[in-house]
Amino acid sequence: MTRLESAMDLDTGAKSESNVDAQTLYDKCLALAGNLWWTWHPELDSLFRDLDPIRWRQLDHNPVALLREFTPDRLSQRAAEMVLFSRINYAYRRLQEYLNDGQTWAATNAGVLGAAPVAYFSAEFGIHESIPIYSGGLGVLSGDHIKSASGLGVPLVAIGLFYDQGYFKQHLDDEGWQHEEYLDTKVENLPIEPARCPDGEPITVSVETRDGKVFAKVWLARVGRVRLYLLDCDVDGNSPEDRELTSRLYGGDERTRIRQELMLGVGGVKALRALGIRPGVYHLNEGHSAFGPLEVVRERMHHDGMTFDDAVREVAQQTVFTTHTPVPAGHDRFSADMVEEHLGPLRDELGISYEQMLGLGRVEPQNDGEPFCMTVLGLKLSRRANAVSQLHGHISRRMWAHLWPWRVEEEIPIGHITNGVHVQSWLAGQMKQLYDRHFPQGWIERMGEPDVWQDIHGVDPGELWETHNTLKTLLLAFARRRVSRQCRRRGESDEAVDAARNVLDPNILTIGFGRRFATYKRANLIMSDIDRLSDMVNDAERPVQFIFAGKAHPKDEPGKQFVQSIANLRHDPRFAHRVVFVEDYEINVCRHMVRGVDVWLNNPRRPLEASGTSGQKVVLNGGLNCSILDGWWAEAYNGANGFAIGSGISHTSDEITDKRDAESLYQTLENEVIATYYDRDLDGLPRGWIKLMMNSISTLAWRFSAHRMVMDYTRNSYVPAAGGLSCDMDFR
Ligand SMILES: *Cc1c(COP(=O)(O)O)cnc(C)c1O
Repeated sequence: MTRLESAMDLDTGAKSESNVDAQTLYDKCLALAGNLWWTWHPELDSLFRDLDPIRWRQLDHNPVALLREFTPDRLSQRAAEMVLFSRINYAYRRLQEYLNDGQTWAATNAGVLGAAPVAYFSAEFGIHESIPIYSGGLGVLSGDHIKSASGLGVPLVAIGLFYDQGYFKQHLDDEGWQHEEYLDTKVENLPIEPARCPDGEPITVSVETRDGKVFAKVWLARVGRVRLYLLDCDVDGNSPEDRELTSRLYGGDERTRIRQELMLGVGGVKALRALGIRPGVYHLNEGHSAFGPLEVVRERMHHDGMTFDDAVREVAQQTVFTTHTPVPAGHDRFSADMVEEHLGPLRDELGISYEQMLGLGRVEPQNDGEPFCMTVLGLKLSRRANAVSQLHGHISRRMWAHLWPWRVEEEIPIGHITNGVHVQSWLAGQMKQLYDRHFPQGWIERMGEPDVWQDIHGVDPGELWETHNTLKTLLLAFARRRVSRQCRRRGESDEAVDAARNVLDPNILTIGFGRRFATYKRANLIMSDIDRLSDMVNDAERPVQFIFAGKAHPKDEPGKQFVQSIANLRHDPRFAHRVVFVEDYEINVCRHMVRGVDVWLNNPRRPLEASGTSGQKVVLNGGLNCSILDGWWAEAYNGANGFAIGSGISHTSDEITDKRDAESLYQTLENEVIATYYDRDLDGLPRGWIKLMMNSISTLAWRFSAHRMVMDYTRNSYVPAAGGLSCDMDFR
């Protein structure tokens, strides 16, 4: 037994608090920090913060790093000063109960997965800001998916890559131009440990290519009841280039990409085998991991003596593929040479020809001009496929219709399961307390059900409004702190830093816009008519203010220009005090924003936003969405739970679409959003607005929760795939 494991067995409930020995207390804290369960329990967040509030912030809210700065004795001393003993013991006991609880939703609804878990593949996982192995929406979605799988007790293991530099940190210079900084992550500060085989040996996997083997070690992170395995190519035996293969997310060239994806898919399947895990279902998120099923096919052929075709049929039956983007550049495509160099040895073992292999990644297998597309491969190797919103389902069926030329569009076998967010991760503690006071007991366990949320209509409007305004004040304080720090970093004058400390006003309607600065998201749509924007921002009676945040991809020059045009509004006296750009958008910045904004603005070029999830986080906290009818909002908006921009129709010309959408954006803001927000009764309450907040919470929170999403996946995809129910996907 390791020290940590023996610490897990201790029960100090009977001893008096002062007798708890320092080492035991320290080990309990380590155990709490060592399971990412803590990230969705605000009481643990505040527990760690109370140990040292300043270092907590400086260390990016990383409890492992924080605890490394304590000796057991000093921790014990600090716990005595802050009266933390019973909080630590209570949290520790709750974690143990959670891990051992057999009475979960999945125990009754997904028994078939018990012996054969779901293997969930994703190239990124956004679980917490202290573990920088994500870049944006896909990562946060994957993180939320596995947190809800944990909550529901769905037997699931997750596979990803360990990026030791992760995604970049964003800094803007004087001209508002984005610069990228990559920091090395200190592994010893992360809640990960080497994954071990059943016999206790640390696991290494290798994948053969035409020019040698690539090796990876495997890390284990615990996310509640879910185990997340991360492959890391920084190991002895790899060439210097291969050691850096998994340094950065979405970095490097075509060759880096295909080698990363080879490791994620094929290496991931090998890692599962080494761990002794036999999945009942393979869930591929995006094409990145689509090589994985080929390794499973090889295994079947080798062990069970099947033919290639029979093995593919069986493996596809167990495979679920989710496509996450309708943006063409979002689908990886590789040249034939790249595929042969990296998949050649596996192809030999599968006994298929060069042409057959390439055909698996092509819509028209014989078309030599067509590159090898990972999404096509994923669709061909899975019997169940889905998009991530209703509208994205329509778009995806149209987009991939030529894969099934004999079918009409409605019969293309790509369904949809709309994305959702992990409620406990995004819901502010203050709002949760309000729900706790008014919702049925145990509502957290049942948050994927509609009834639970209806009680919001019984809440006193003043109470809801006040809670929201508390959260808004916290956001504004956060934004000021960040903006003044940014000024200081750029070496600006003391007056400038001071001015930054006083931007924004809690009495003004606050609109937030935080997301990747991909150009289709049109961050600068609001700037189409700068005078009109100025009139709105500076209105004497009914002003508005904006908080922007977002990173452009390092190679996306137009995206960086969008960042620049918005960041530079601070040099314009009309906007300096009311439009701010918070640098380095990541989970922590997002969390502050979605909790405190009055309105969340989303104006992508329809239909390019597959789902979007940030607006769902806003719903939970009482903010309202003002969005183009794209992605999740196209099915969420009902006329009385937020605001719609445009009518849900796009023109074939982008220029005309942008013009129309900008006009509609201004009109919606002027005539609906601003008007409703400032329409106050004698008590100063915006009754109409609060009604919209309640409608938004009651109609949307449960539907766009990750619990509902994971229940849908479990019922409609995982259980049928594991149980061998056939499904209609006839490729050959
Ligand atoms: C939720 C989240 C996203 C996804 O937001 P979209 O609405 O899909 O743009 C991206 N980045 C971070 C850090 C998030 O927390």
